[in-house]
Amino acid sequence: LKINFSSLEQVAGFKSQYPKEKLPEIAFAGRSNVGKSSMINAVLARKNLARTSSKPGKTRTVNFYLANDEFRLVDLPGYGFASAPKSEIIKWAKIIEEYLEDRENLREIFLVVDIRHRPTDDDLDMYEYIIANGFTGYVIATKADKISKGKFDKAKKEISEKLGVERDKIIPFSAENKTNREKILSLIEKIIKK
Ligand code: GDP
Repeated sequence: LKINFSSLEQVAGFKSQYPKEKLPEIAFAGRSNVGKSSMINAVLARKNLARTSSKPGKTRTVNFYLANDEFRLVDLPGYGFASAPKSEIIKWAKIIEEYLEDRENLREIFLVVDIRHRPTDDDLDMYEYIIANGFTGYVIATKADKISKGKFDKAKKEISEKLGVERDKIIPFSAENKTNREKILSLIEKIIKK
């Protein structure tokens, strides 16, 4: 799969702002600050299409990235930042459920985790939701440039134990040096063409 064109098509705070359902979509869920936006930028080969930040917990919107006029990558609001007040968490849950609950063209939800850390209980909740809704359950373990390749297996083992995911569904990734970008692109191709 080659990305010829990409754009930030829509930033949606409400369902009424979602783009029409005609194109297949792949959504990305993960803790805030895990590196989701950087991952989307790297996959689409854009420097700053998805806004990245070092301040966790800012995004409260569902962001739709259009690629090749063929499919969309969807960035869901990040969860699980420690300092969030309860009202914020409820708002987050509402935004995310609104999207996930009834989106006909949603083909897969990828969970994005940090390869250096054992997934949290929030990650596990999210992952169980993904599986319960019939999705494959791919996990992208990002920031892989921050550990040596020799440690990938150990990291995969921890992620696999916490989430109950098969190891071959865990994909180490780095936005920094593009580790496994091609692998994710071919996975995306497979998903949108099925
Ligand atoms: P998001 O909140 O999940 O969208 O996270 P961001 O994409 O904004 O990234 C959060 C921080 O992690 C930023 O400072 C990024 O530069 C950094 N980051 C994201 N991905 C990577 C990566 O693959 N490698 C390294 N070294 N840093 C990363």
